[in-house]
Amino acid sequence: MTEPSHSLLCRSPLQPGESLLSLLARLSELNLYPDPTILMRICRERLVERDNVTQPAMAETYKVLVKLVGIDADELYAASVHRFAATITPPPYQKQSILLPSGREVYVADRPFLQRNIRWERDLQFCPLCLKESVYHRLSWMPMAVALCLNHQCLLVHRCPYCQKNITIQDVLRAKCLTCGFHLTESPVISVASDKFGLFSQTVIQSWLLGISPPPNVEIPYSLPSQPVSVLYRILVGLCRAITNIQDNWHYLHEAPIGIDSSIIFPLPQKRDITPTQS
Ligand SMILES: [Zn+2]
Ligand SMILES: [Zn+2]
Repeated sequence: MTEPSHSLLCRSPLQPGESLLSLLARLSELNLYPDPTILMRICRERLVERDNVTQPAMAETYKVLVKLVGIDADELYAASVHRFAATITPPPYQKQSILLPSGREVYVADRPFLQRNIRWERDLQFCPLCLKESVYHRLSWMPMAVALCLNHQCLLVHRCPYCQKNITIQDVLRAKCLTCGFHLTESPVISVASDKFGLFSQTVIQSWLLGISPPPNVEIPYSLPSQPVSVLYRILVGLCRAITNIQDNWHYLHEAPIGIDSSIIFPLPQKRDITPTQS
C-alpha cells in the first residue's frame, strides 16, 4: 500500500498579515474540499494528541501543517492567534511555550485566555477597505481589543450591515454575506481619522498584540509607564471590565469625533458581544 500524500495538491502562500484561519479556509476551497472541516480532519488524523488546527498549540501540529501546506512553521505561528499569547496571558500565570521545528521557542496561550480575548471564528470583524484591496482575513482583526484598521483609519465592521448576521470566515473569503448576499466591501466606512486619542490607543494596543510599529500616519502623543506589556494589557482589560458595569451614559468618557451618538454606546454587554464602536 502506498503512503498517503502528506501535502495538499494546491498550495498558496500566506498573504501579508493573513490569519492562519483564513489560509486554511482558502486552501480548503482551492483543493475543492466540499466542506472546510475536511482539511481540519486530515490534520487531526495525523496527530497523536488532540489540538485545534486553526489555533495550533502543539509543536507536532505545526510539523503536520508544514508538510500539508508547505509553509514554514515560524510563518504559520506568526499567522496564528498564539502570536498574542505573551500579551494576553496575564501575570501571574506562567506562560506556556513550545519549540518550533526551526528551534525557536514561542509562547502559546491557554484556551481560557484565547476565549476571553480573541473573537470566535463564527463572529469575525473586518475592514471593508482592506477587503476591497484583497479578499482574505487578517490576523489583526482577531483580538476583541482591536476596533479599527490603522491603515485606513476606520472602524472595523462586525455583523453584516444589511441582515446583522455574524460574519464567518466563508463570508470574508467571498467578501459577501452568505445569508443575504450583501457585498461586504460596500459596508459603510466610519472614518476615525480625526479621533487622535482613539488612533493613539488602538496603535498602542495593536503594537502590544502584534508587535508592529505604528503606520507613519499615526501620531504617538503620549507615553506609557515602563511595565511589561502583559501588565499594561491586564490593566486595560480590568478597566474595560469595570466599564461594562456602567448602565447609563457617561458624558465625560472619551467621545470619539466620528459622528456616532454616544447614547448607543451604553449600556455595554456584560459578555463578549461588544461592537467595534463600543470597543
Ligand atoms: Zn483596512
Ligand atoms: Zn447579511
